Amino acid sequence: MGFQDFLGNETTVRHLREGIAQGRLPHALILAGPRGSGKYTLALMLAQTVNCLNPIETDGLPDFCGTCRNCTRIAESMPLETRVDEAIAAREEMREVDKKDTRILIQTHPDVLVIPPDPPQLLIKLGQVRTVIREIYRVPAEAKRAVYIFTSASFMKEAANSLLKILEEPPAHASIFLLAENTGELLPTIRSRAGLARLGALPLEQLEELIAKRRTDLGPAQRQLVARLAQGAVGAALGFDLEQYFGHRQDALIILRHATREADHSMLFRMTEAYRAGAEGQEKIQGLLGAMISLLEDLLLIQSGQAALVRNIDLQSELNAMAGTVNFEWIENTARSIQKVQSGMRRNLLRSLALDAFAAEIAVR
Ligand SMILES: [Zn+2]
Repeated sequence: MGFQDFLGNETTVRHLREGIAQGRLPHALILAGPRGSGKYTLALMLAQTVNCLNPIETDGLPDFCGTCRNCTRIAESMPLETRVDEAIAAREEMREVDKKDTRILIQTHPDVLVIPPDPPQLLIKLGQVRTVIREIYRVPAEAKRAVYIFTSASFMKEAANSLLKILEEPPAHASIFLLAENTGELLPTIRSRAGLARLGALPLEQLEELIAKRRTDLGPAQRQLVARLAQGAVGAALGFDLEQYFGHRQDALIILRHATREADHSMLFRMTEAYRAGAEGQEKIQGLLGAMISLLEDLLLIQSGQAALVRNIDLQSELNAMAGTVNFEWIENTARSIQKVQSGMRRNLLRSLALDAFAAEIAVR
């Protein structure tokens, strides 16, 4: 593990590493880029680089060993969704009085704090920034430089104002990373006090080339499909389980065909029967909903005259036909209700889903 594993955005990454070589990692840095462009991975890698106990160089620039006590503990924060789910589940188990005062934070190294948006509103909250204020003026115990990573640019107003106070007088021993899909969400006064590094999604052709090199299990048509489904995200592309996705997509199509009155009900009934409640069933349902979202987004692309960007290219003709039977509003509303169900499940508010009732609900009237 090291920077050779961070693919794409070479210039931006090199500039940041050159900065570290010259001893100047900014006190505050906005890492801006679309979902899947590697903002979070890069933030953690930079934290590892400044704190590695056996620092190494690759290509003449600072890198990290990946095996020392600082590197390994920071790396434990890497699977962000899993860590967030664990923190939320732990809070759910608390007494009501304690729940209210408990903020979602991730800390796998004592001097590296990750601050994700706090559910249910999914905003960075005042309580979270207050924790940062309490911690940030403390000299790091085991790191050379403390690192604070805000994984979203969506702040509650008071939280943003408090963050601004830190940025006005930042402590010398800490760096704050602000990850943003849209920098416009941040206060102009915050933006003016932070450096900015932009990351782009990997272009389709580059991602396909990479998949050809690393995923020898896939044929050319499959590579093309995976590159599109991963939406420029390297990690997602390299770990993409196409078989599993096909399974989920097959079921998602049954629901959509039913909703658009193209399929028979017995098929829907047989399919929904296969989805059971419980932890395992939940994972299956999340996969199904994810596949359904990707199909709906393709329908939107077709309807807005951008069929060339469709991701499920192997289903193009079926999707074209389906797009003719529904309107823009239905697709948007259906996508929105699926997203609501997805986030409800992620936050443990909804442990299972009656799929047949859901299919009836989204049916075109
Ligand atoms: Zn190390």
